[in-house]
Amino acid sequence: MEIGKKNAFVDFIKKYGVYLAVGIVVFAVALTFTLLATLNGSVMTEGPNLNFTLPMENATVIKDFSDTELQENTTLNQWEAHLAVDLASESTDVFAVLDGTVASVEYDILTGNTITIEHEGGFVSVYSSLADQPTVQKGDKVSAGDKIGSASESATGELDLGSHLHFTLMLNNDYVDPNDYLNLQSK
Ligand SMILES: [Zn+2]
Repeated sequence: MEIGKKNAFVDFIKKYGVYLAVGIVVFAVALTFTLLATLNGSVMTEGPNLNFTLPMENATVIKDFSDTELQENTTLNQWEAHLAVDLASESTDVFAVLDGTVASVEYDILTGNTITIEHEGGFVSVYSSLADQPTVQKGDKVSAGDKIGSASESATGELDLGSHLHFTLMLNNDYVDPNDYLNLQSK
């Protein structure tokens, strides 16, 4: 009886073993995908809070982003890509667009006083043509919406535009169109 049972089991495996093996593999693959999907879902919900706020209130876009079409720079009398958005507003206040850490506060003759802020998720925001006295310094932690400086005419490379903010957004070291992340066109 014992032997008979054993033989029956061996016969069963011989006959249906392949189907059993395929079934186990299919189940394992399905389980793996389910686990991965669950894992991705939880990573998404626990990721950085990327709620952008506007760098200026009630601002007008006076020169838009363009990475392929060249735009005329009347100040420098040349055609160039404009990897930023120029904003002007009645109030010159400039605000951080995301929580982050001030990476640098620098002056360049063409872009003027410039604050660079590093954020989570690979984003870096750069605020140029600021007035002489930024309200933050390197290493400062800032929150989205914190005032960091004032728009001015310090970017001599864009003097014809008057007092404005030259706003640049980068993602993983690449220039990106700020319009893809911020609702800059609505007032
Ligand atoms: Zn500009």
